[in-house]
Amino acid sequence: MPDVLEKLVSLAKRRGFVFQSSEIYGGTGSVWDYGPLGVELKRNLQDRWWHAMVRARDDIEGLDSAILMHPRVWEASGHVTGFVDPLVDCRNCKRRFRADDPSIKGTPGSPDAQCPVCGAKGTLGEARQFNLMFKTFMGPVEDTAAVVYLRPETAQGTYVNFLNVQQSTRQKIPFGIAQIGKAFRNEITPGNFIFRTREFEQMEMQFFVEPGTDMEWFEKWRGWRMDWHRALGLAPDRLRYYDQREDELAHYARAASDIQFDFGGTLAFGELEGIHNRGAFDLTQHQQFSGKKLEYFDQPNNRRYVPYVVETACGPNRTLLALLVNGYREETVAGEDEGRTVLALHPSLAPIKAGVFPLVKKDGMPEMAHRIADDLRKSFPIFYDESGAIGRRYRRQDEVGTPYGITIDGQSVADGTVTIRDRDTLAQERVAADRLPDILRGRLAG
Ligand code: ATP
Repeated sequence: MPDVLEKLVSLAKRRGFVFQSSEIYGGTGSVWDYGPLGVELKRNLQDRWWHAMVRARDDIEGLDSAILMHPRVWEASGHVTGFVDPLVDCRNCKRRFRADDPSIKGTPGSPDAQCPVCGAKGTLGEARQFNLMFKTFMGPVEDTAAVVYLRPETAQGTYVNFLNVQQSTRQKIPFGIAQIGKAFRNEITPGNFIFRTREFEQMEMQFFVEPGTDMEWFEKWRGWRMDWHRALGLAPDRLRYYDQREDELAHYARAASDIQFDFGGTLAFGELEGIHNRGAFDLTQHQQFSGKKLEYFDQPNNRRYVPYVVETACGPNRTLLALLVNGYREETVAGEDEGRTVLALHPSLAPIKAGVFPLVKKDGMPEMAHRIADDLRKSFPIFYDESGAIGRRYRRQDEVGTPYGITIDGQSVADGTVTIRDRDTLAQERVAADRLPDILRGRLAG
């Protein structure tokens, strides 16, 4: 695991961003829980996506489809037969690997193949196909109940609702359907903290277009989605595209481009989002399997067709990890012995927007600070802190990415002004306390 990831795992636990699931039972390596600060950060990220994709546009509608779907959906989508990874077992140490794991020497199944963990030779079995979908049962009696799957992506819930959404909203092509929700994949090798887990979330949008205009829309979405990631404050030189070559494309895909972020260390560049031109594959499959037409009626031209789909599929958990990696800094502070750890999160994403601190616990300062905190809390998540030296209190907030620190001192009580400290520049400015809501609103916009 890259150095910074190890530090982040510890910071995330200590400060309440991310906890290991079921930790008191020894935990699971592949599932994580989001603590008080983590849930705020994730929600802010998802709200930003929802705003950009759904609310700020008139050509995309929102949807929240169910995790459990008719089992035939996954036959139609190709997941029952095709959503597989090649798996190999080591007979000696019982570990499991993806057959394409680059640390395996030799061909699994042959006598010269070597286990990358225990080093034994000839103990790796032949690769077998392993389906990544979680199975469960619908109905009370397991033997007779239908096998259903936990969805491995949100997209299929969108395809099967294509006509419901189009007809209820009277959208005309081109238009999109967006949703945010849980997805489950029984990954063979989860890991790298929240980068690859077995339960995660997706923010996916399917954009339905007229065949022939699909590459044009693919290029537009490829550009727009990169702009969105940059606007989160992710360093431009850590972001890049990976355009899939013809031989790497899924059989139904006409084009695919990943947006990758450089996580550093051994993880290096990893995918945050995929932009895919899926052609008419999904709707055509669902038409065939369901026997129901999924065509769009183009009224002005009096013709019906199955639209093509350009998909944008982003993982908020991975993007959240990218934000932590991108924002994490340890630095010295001029004039202070102790350094500080800073999480330079974009102010709009920061879980807490401002810390409110009475300089000392007397002379009317806590009372005034409480009044200010209570007033600001009506509009923003605020943290009130009166314990310990003021420098310590600033540093506790720097470490969780709080962009502003508001300090109430002796002068505040006398003239109604306070200082506002900027997390990144450390600049302090004296302002009238009653202007604080407007000042914060202005600085948090964007
Ligand atoms: P990968 O190649 O990393 O397995 P993928 O190409 O299978 O990802 P998609 O099916 O395109 O991923 O899913 C869209 C997004 O969902 C990914 O870009 C990623 O951000 C997120 N995602 C996919 N699998 C996981 C996982 N196991 N854990 C966390 N996020 C995931």
